[in-house]
Amino acid sequence: MKKAFLTLEKAKEIDKEYSTPYHIYDEKSIIENVRAINKAFSWNKGFKEYFAVKANPNPFILQILKAEGCGMDCSSMSELVLSKAVGLDGNGIMFSSNATPASEYKYANKLGAIINLDDFTHVEFIKNVLGTLPKKMCLRYNPGGVFEVCNGIMDNPGDAKYGMSKEQMFEAMKILKGYGVEEFGIHAFLASNVLSDKYYPMLAKILFELAVEAHEVTGVNITFVNLSGGVGIPYKPEDEPCNIANIGEGVRKAYEEVIVPSSLGDVAVLTEMGRFVMGPYGALVTKAVHFKHIYKEYVGCDACAVNLMRPAMYGAYHHITILGKEDKPCDHKYDITGSLCENNDKFAIDRMLPEIEIGDFIYIHDTGAHGFSMGYNYNGKLRSKELLLKTGGEVQLIRRAETIEDYLRTFDCFDIFEKFDFEGSR
Ligand SMILES: *Cc1c(COP(=O)(O)O)cnc(C)c1O
Repeated sequence: MKKAFLTLEKAKEIDKEYSTPYHIYDEKSIIENVRAINKAFSWNKGFKEYFAVKANPNPFILQILKAEGCGMDCSSMSELVLSKAVGLDGNGIMFSSNATPASEYKYANKLGAIINLDDFTHVEFIKNVLGTLPKKMCLRYNPGGVFEVCNGIMDNPGDAKYGMSKEQMFEAMKILKGYGVEEFGIHAFLASNVLSDKYYPMLAKILFELAVEAHEVTGVNITFVNLSGGVGIPYKPEDEPCNIANIGEGVRKAYEEVIVPSSLGDVAVLTEMGRFVMGPYGALVTKAVHFKHIYKEYVGCDACAVNLMRPAMYGAYHHITILGKEDKPCDHKYDITGSLCENNDKFAIDRMLPEIEIGDFIYIHDTGAHGFSMGYNYNGKLRSKELLLKTGGEVQLIRRAETIEDYLRTFDCFDIFEKFDFEGSR
């Protein structure tokens, strides 16, 4: 059973101050979860979770994670700026991007971030851009082919645009060593949203073995292995959640098997989880505003795919709870839709739910990662507000909703809105 972290009473109380739609995040559970992650890997001296900022780029959230010891994994200029703004730099930032502009390498270097090179050609590119390279760098690996986690979950690294081959990695290490780089890390992201405790241990074994081989072949120091993200969350009620303690233990076994007997010395294990850190601890709350019956039963709500793109984009399942009707039978079949002129703008298709009435709070689960952050402005729709349910139960506005002025701001090269009468439009 998936349980909402808001009750109907709380939603009604919030509604007096903050109208729907909004994303809301549960601070207490976020903190408990990050503590469990840190505990699971506490056997490794250098362990650090670099939260994947793209999953939830809200500085209030980043501050909570930073206070629990997390660094930030950035992939763009804006994400670097956000991380710096919450007080991180140096080893607190991992910069993993691809097709990277020179300006971003420069700024990442200025912050002292650990730069993760995605491609062999970036070795010469970054040398030309920076002149002097940082002492510590990371390289992204792509083994090609297919990657299979024991229970049949597969991904297709051979089709992915990321990373470099083993030969390219070793060659890059030799060249970078010649350019003065003293410490290396290796990184790979081979599968996404994996609901298996075996993913990280399997990936760790591959990367640990690669680290040992790289050290033997090139003589470079490998001081960290970055397992990146990919640990899954139970979006569906029948999904079995991952057990982070088991995952940490599995990685420890691989470490003892491969790293301990090697001549590498201490190797820090790093992670860059986004979904696992934040996904379950956010929800999109929207209200039922219209009914429509044609060949199917539709419920129109005040959020749409611009607020949560995953169902429209990947057909992703997000569980729905009608607040206050948790114990009612799910005996009605609905499509829950937004108002975009796109037929994929549906949060749920043929979903069995309790009977919905106009004004009901529709609570869409698991939007804490890759939810708000994937938002866009199609149909001129505006981004929603974001709220934080604080540990003490109070609710804080951590981002206001976009306004029509925000939407029009990029037309300021144009004077047609200067004397425009906005009456009735806001
Ligand atoms: C997206 C991404 C992550 C986070 O992935 P999750 O599936 O949210 O855990 C981590 N590292 C890199 C480089 C990414 O692109």
